[in-house]
Amino acid sequence: RPLGYAIVGLGMYGLGVIIPQFANCAHSRLAAVVSGDPAKARRVAAEHGLPESAIYSYETFDRIRDNPDVDIVYVCLPNSMHAEYVIRAARAGKHVMCEKPMAVSAAECVRMIAACKAANRKLMIGYRCHFEPFNLEAMRLARSGAAGRIRYVRSEHGFIQGDPSKWRLRRALSGGGSLMDMGIYALQAARYMTGEEPVAVQALESTDRTDPRFHEVEDQIDWQLLFPSGAVAGCKSMYSANQNHIIAVGDKGRIELEPATRYDGNHLWTGRDGREHETTSPPPGPGRTQFAGQLDHLAECIASGREPIVSGEEGLRDLRIIEAIYRSAREGRRIEL
Ligand code: NAD
Repeated sequence: RPLGYAIVGLGMYGLGVIIPQFANCAHSRLAAVVSGDPAKARRVAAEHGLPESAIYSYETFDRIRDNPDVDIVYVCLPNSMHAEYVIRAARAGKHVMCEKPMAVSAAECVRMIAACKAANRKLMIGYRCHFEPFNLEAMRLARSGAAGRIRYVRSEHGFIQGDPSKWRLRRALSGGGSLMDMGIYALQAARYMTGEEPVAVQALESTDRTDPRFHEVEDQIDWQLLFPSGAVAGCKSMYSANQNHIIAVGDKGRIELEPATRYDGNHLWTGRDGREHETTSPPPGPGRTQFAGQLDHLAECIASGREPIVSGEEGLRDLRIIEAIYRSAREGRRIEL
């Protein structure tokens, strides 16, 4: 049977993006909802034919242990709540999908991984680009040497934040500003386009602290990553301009995505030196959509006993680098990783 997911947090992403995607899944289905808003939870449950017993609040969440319909808990809450709900889900005997960023510190990630290991449950991070056809094709082209030896990657990700009261702009809930939200896409891109792990980072932050949106978290942050091959990535995230771009340049050509990591409408260009750049249509991804591919991947990993391609360890790697980026910006110096 398809595995049952409980969605924790019925916000923009959990309710607006993920729940409708079960219609595109082959191995996954919606089995429960967890919400602080009983009326919303009842409405969503009714719309999806779920019984009253499939509705949980944050207080009754641990009773999910007794619900055999739920195999996986998908945590779609503000960042600072990820660790608590992943650990409670594992202790309730459920496998876990956790949204990005995995947590607000590497120390939390370590505890989340340990809790899932102790419960013998799988832990996957919602890095949807690993199931998105354009990004998958860009990774394949980079690995196959289509652009030659990759010399540098650039990736910029940002959008314009509006309402200063949003949890994304409250450090206690977000753990940080644009880097924690969109910057993680640029960081991921630097790692998956080079296929390497960075050995050093240097960062620079620019934030107008008189702007009410940015009293607690950063707006613009730029960082460079040095990779063992000598390739360098220049990355940027921001909350004051729209940008969504990845380019990998090698000694024989380039691979470029723009927009790069949207829910849909991404584009891929490739160019060999001396020739016009061509748009490339990738082969289909593993699912009908990137979200369905991601949801079904964890279900298939549970059925087959494999580790997810974007495991808790992958989320931890990013948080370790993010902490070094913040430290480099703060201390104004290069940090060795
Ligand atoms: P959102 O604000 O729309 O939803 C958050 C949900 O958490 C809401 O239902 C809210 O009621 C609930 N919540 C519980 N306690 C809360 C508290 N103390 N403060 C605020 N909200 C609280 O946010 P979102 O955009 O759905 O983001 C949720 C998570 O999903 C974040 O970790 C975010 O980074 C991630 N996300 C991922 C993607 C992606 O493409 N993978 C896209 C958007 C969001």
